Amino acid sequence: MSDIIQLLPDHVANQIAAGEVVQRPASVVKELLENAIDAHATSIKLIVKDAGKTLIQVIDDGEGMSATDARLSFERHATSKIRTADDLFKLNTKGFRGEALASIAAIAHVELKTKQEEDEVGTSIIIEGSEVVEQEVVVTPKGTSIAVKNLFFNIPARRNFLKSNTVELRHIVDEFHRVALAHPNIAFAMYHNGSEVFMLPESNYRQRIVNIFGNKTNEKLVPVNEDTEVIKISGFVGKPEYAKKSRGEQFFFVNNRFIKSAYLNHAIASAFEGLLKDGAHASYFLNLEVNPQTIDINIHPTKTEIKFDDEHTLYAILRASVKHSLGQFNIAPVLDFDR
Ligand code: ADP
Ligand code: MG
Repeated sequence: MSDIIQLLPDHVANQIAAGEVVQRPASVVKELLENAIDAHATSIKLIVKDAGKTLIQVIDDGEGMSATDARLSFERHATSKIRTADDLFKLNTKGFRGEALASIAAIAHVELKTKQEEDEVGTSIIIEGSEVVEQEVVVTPKGTSIAVKNLFFNIPARRNFLKSNTVELRHIVDEFHRVALAHPNIAFAMYHNGSEVFMLPESNYRQRIVNIFGNKTNEKLVPVNEDTEVIKISGFVGKPEYAKKSRGEQFFFVNNRFIKSAYLNHAIASAFEGLLKDGAHASYFLNLEVNPQTIDINIHPTKTEIKFDDEHTLYAILRASVKHSLGQFNIAPVLDFDR
């Protein structure tokens, strides 16, 4: 008999976990932006080079970290956001798995600078492939800057698998849109290869949509508002002429988190029945607020899918409320005159 089981070293475990969390540069963008939001930043800057393949940097003016926390933040399962499994059902943060920074640090070169308001000086840490190569005391503004360089430097298969810069940048912009739409009260900026891509001042929801998608969007938005015991809905659907061939501008946020749901998407499509040309998809920007105890976010590492206790009721309310809003704007199926 011989024993053959061994515990994987941390850096190997982190690299494996990274496979789930970090699929492409856009995944890093999402995790870093979400961390900045969880740190209560009021202004967040995203700097990208070569579609994130050489640099992804997020600079925030949030709470920052102590020197000890800065070091600990790169450990697996290191989180300040939950303490017990029960906390999963009263989440008011984006993060909770404590895996993002550990995963990112396992497959990239990471430079962190951070300072808390009350501290005179901050901390700078450089990590390469899960190894801390440098830690210093630095002068840096309040908040956190994390630069992720040379993504997948130690996993050539993954690096080669990345798509063209155009495609990877598209994914990054998609993530940026999602986060920026979920938080109109936070100022965001994005730069790619030194040029400004977005400059979004703090604003209301309508203004944020218009700042991202252009002035022409403004007159095409139909407000949707509903307040029931199980769900509060706010936001906009696009008038039928704003419908797109591709599914581009479709956004559901549940408790400020972007989610994908084919089922709820169907509720909207069904509310638009008879209003859209064949093959067109309604545009929508909808925020759904539900009791956190009635959803489970912990069903996928990227947290874009969630499980609702009572999907059928949500479907019905959503469909009715969108129909009602379209009706109020006199947008009803046109039967026999010009279409
Ligand atoms: P999670 O977000 O799930 O807690 P992460 O690996 O993304 O896990 O981050 C680990 C911890 O590092 C966070 O819980 C938080 O305490 C700290 N942290 C990460 N990014 C920031 C930031 N931008 N500002 C302040 N603290 C941060
Ligand atoms: Mg996180």
